[in-house]
Amino acid sequence: MSFSAHIITLFPDLFPGPLGASVIGRGMADGLWQLETTQLRDFATDRHRTVDDTPSGGGAGMVLKPDILARAIDAVSPEGDARPRLLMSPRGTPLTQARVRELAAGPGAVIVCGRFEGIDQRVIEARGLEEVSIGDYVLAGGEVAAMVLLEAVVRLIPGVLGAAESHADESFENGLLEYPQYTRPQSFEGREIPEVLTSGDHGKVAKWRRAESEKLTRARRPDLLK
Ligand code: SAM
Repeated sequence: MSFSAHIITLFPDLFPGPLGASVIGRGMADGLWQLETTQLRDFATDRHRTVDDTPSGGGAGMVLKPDILARAIDAVSPEGDARPRLLMSPRGTPLTQARVRELAAGPGAVIVCGRFEGIDQRVIEARGLEEVSIGDYVLAGGEVAAMVLLEAVVRLIPGVLGAAESHADESFENGLLEYPQYTRPQSFEGREIPEVLTSGDHGKVAKWRRAESEKLTRARRPDLLK
């Protein structure tokens, strides 16, 4: 069974969007992963297909209703579905490459995209939603966040990246940021490619890259070294 992603959203037309392009899109065409979307509004019961209501206790904005979202989740992910249920949320656990790796090794994910002020707390608890954040800023909705998560996950599924695009050396894979990359021409506006990289000495190249990775990580992301 290939990795199966299912998005619950008020804007299914946004998908696959960038997930349909390049290696990620090719992976989908090759059957290495699948993407389905469900329109949350289809689970509303009134004539106006209402999915939200005013916040209890007052305040601005609207909140997605728990009963409607629960019905959508139950339809998409009945009991026994092994896929984790994620809710994209700025309050969530920040997404890391380690969590991305775990998700890529699993059966897929059911992803709920919030809108407006967010969703009723009771459905988060009742359906065991794992809140995931893509960073300390607030987006208008969970759709772009879900795409970010899926793009990071899908590129780790075996076969999605060609051998030429291996991710083994990349930022975060070994707890460090990646070393600087160069390509021809040898000289660009008076700046040369570091000599060691064109020396043909693989041992020296590896040592230089490791040292540059460590230097960059110490300067930019000392938290990764802890
Ligand atoms: N009122 C919420 C708060 O202050 O935490 C923000 C709601 S936001 C306007 C609407 C939706 O966008 C959220 O329910 C979530 O699905 C999504 N979203 C916004 N920022 C996000 C982030 N940094 N990571 C993941 N999802 C995010």
